[in-house]
Amino acid sequence: MDYQSTRNPMLKASSAQAVLDGLAPDGGLYTMPSMKDIAFDWKSVLDMDTQGMATEILSALLPSFTKDEMRVLVKNAYTGRFETEDLTPTVRVGDDTVLELFRGPTSAFKDVALSMLPQLMTAARKKCGVDDEILILTATSGDTGKAAMEGFCDVPGTKIIVFYPDGGVSPVQKAQMATQAGNNTCVCAVRGNFDDAQTGVKNVFAAVTEGKLLDGKGVRLSSANSINIGRLAPQVVYYFRAYANLVKDGTLQAGDKVDFCVPTGNFGDILAGWFAKALGLPVGTLICASNANNVLTDFLKTGRYDKNRPFYKTVSPSMDILVSSNLERLLYLLSDDAALVRSLMEQLKTEGAYQVPETLLARLHEAFWQGCCDDEGTKNAIGMVWREYGYLCDTHTAVAWDVAQQYKAEHPAHNHVVILSTASPYKFPAAVLAGIGHSAKGDEFDVMEQVRNETGVPIPKNLAGLRERSVRHKDVIDREAMLDYVLAKAAEKEWF
Ligand SMILES: *Cc1c(COP(=O)(O)O)cnc(C)c1O
Repeated sequence: MDYQSTRNPMLKASSAQAVLDGLAPDGGLYTMPSMKDIAFDWKSVLDMDTQGMATEILSALLPSFTKDEMRVLVKNAYTGRFETEDLTPTVRVGDDTVLELFRGPTSAFKDVALSMLPQLMTAARKKCGVDDEILILTATSGDTGKAAMEGFCDVPGTKIIVFYPDGGVSPVQKAQMATQAGNNTCVCAVRGNFDDAQTGVKNVFAAVTEGKLLDGKGVRLSSANSINIGRLAPQVVYYFRAYANLVKDGTLQAGDKVDFCVPTGNFGDILAGWFAKALGLPVGTLICASNANNVLTDFLKTGRYDKNRPFYKTVSPSMDILVSSNLERLLYLLSDDAALVRSLMEQLKTEGAYQVPETLLARLHEAFWQGCCDDEGTKNAIGMVWREYGYLCDTHTAVAWDVAQQYKAEHPAHNHVVILSTASPYKFPAAVLAGIGHSAKGDEFDVMEQVRNETGVPIPKNLAGLRERSVRHKDVIDREAMLDYVLAKAAEKEWF
């Protein structure tokens, strides 16, 4: 099975090439032609450990890699890097299950994918006979950047530049990035919001490809954003992990359906859930949870995507996104119509909006439900979950928790609900502390201590002592300067 662009079925690439390139040359996203091309026996993985599941699922989704090759890559990516060997534990909270995706090296759910991507990418580089050094460009709303650098840190043959919106990430996220170790890592703030940074990265890719600006220079660009299929595929695994855990503890019988509620930004995490469903996992409804930037809530209700609206900075900043890039893959896979996708994406670019046909909207409604929760609701949810169940959740998880309760209230016959928890509460301590009814004193690092003193929940190792680490990355630039910045960095042999 070859991959192809979401905008042109003639533009094909092996799955290894798709991982290496990140974005298709026409600006589309690489996708399998159809999920039906993938044969997968979902029941056969339920008794496996998480690494075994990952091996089966990833070699099915990325057929350039044999099962034996994949087993080694999975082992390299995950062994000893997470708090628990099952990587993503499940916890019962009231009537629902919380799937904890934040037990990795940077306390963010993106660790699951970004531990795996460098392995896939360096293996893909060998498979495709590429000698060039790989320069990863990533735009981040906070968590991706740190997790990507941790994944790529000192991986031979790779370098990584992370752009984040200046003032658009939490102080802890900023400290995590600015203190990043490694001789191949680079962090730069961009004046603007996340969409500016992400559009800027896309424009750099386009300019470099069109102008052949790096040809013959021994460097090639790639992406670690969730537009890379190598980012998306590893996320499918934890949907299976959660399901298998629920079968094991007797909450479910194999075959029963489960609803998943996903705090959504760029639509990568929830799309991985749709992939799991397409591979046969008994998924009922995928509930798309948004914060005040509820462009996806409106879209899933009406079929009209409209990014012409105010942009809010919320207490769940990793979801402060108005252009959800991965939605494009879903639109393609549900419509099987690359020409339609091309035209919709063209309208998004020129008018900032598009409307999908009725038939496509009906297919969206079969698989998805949607809801949103503002900052007030987010803090209330944190307080409520803490008081009722003694469970401390972060702001993104709280959005999902609130939307899951909305869903259940409207659907009395719902299935068991799994809420995806995407960050440690210690990544957003001020909002979490406010949620449990205390006012913050001092800077965000003091607030972490306060949260620990109030709740007794331990601070993850990678976040404790962050304040004492020395800052290594200080650059701030205008978004118009991103291309020149990348070209200058690409020409520098040694960064440190
Ligand atoms: C990235 C992120 C999300 C959103 O995930 P998408 O795949 O972009 O939809 C949610 N919560 C946290 C904490 C994140 O870092």
